[in-house]
Amino acid sequence: IAQVDLNVKGMVKNSRLAKSINDVAWSTFRQWLEYFGFKYGKATVAVAPNNTSQNCSNCDQKVPKSLSTRTHVCPHCGYVEDRDINAAINILKKGLSTVGHTGTQAWGEISSDLVGHVLSD
Ligand SMILES: [Zn+2]
Repeated sequence: IAQVDLNVKGMVKNSRLAKSINDVAWSTFRQWLEYFGFKYGKATVAVAPNNTSQNCSNCDQKVPKSLSTRTHVCPHCGYVEDRDINAAINILKKGLSTVGHTGTQAWGEISSDLVGHVLSD
């Protein structure tokens, strides 16, 4: 399971986005996702959000778009996809490459910390 390593505190400072970010209780969702990943033996990884919504998941070219642009239309390869699905594919690709590099030992250490964090909340 791959997710973006969102800077939630930084995003909440943006008043235009703050309400919707707080509404989804993003940090809590992330903690539960990581907890259940650990519990059921599934690797979860948070990847840097850089360009995950801007890059084309089909050809890796950068396709700049504003937040209001909801459809990814790649002028380089012609790939058309919902903005969020395109980003999700990029996030999964990044996550899979990260998991491959860190291995299970590193994951075990990380997840122990996360579970401790979840249980202490
Ligand atoms: Zn493309």
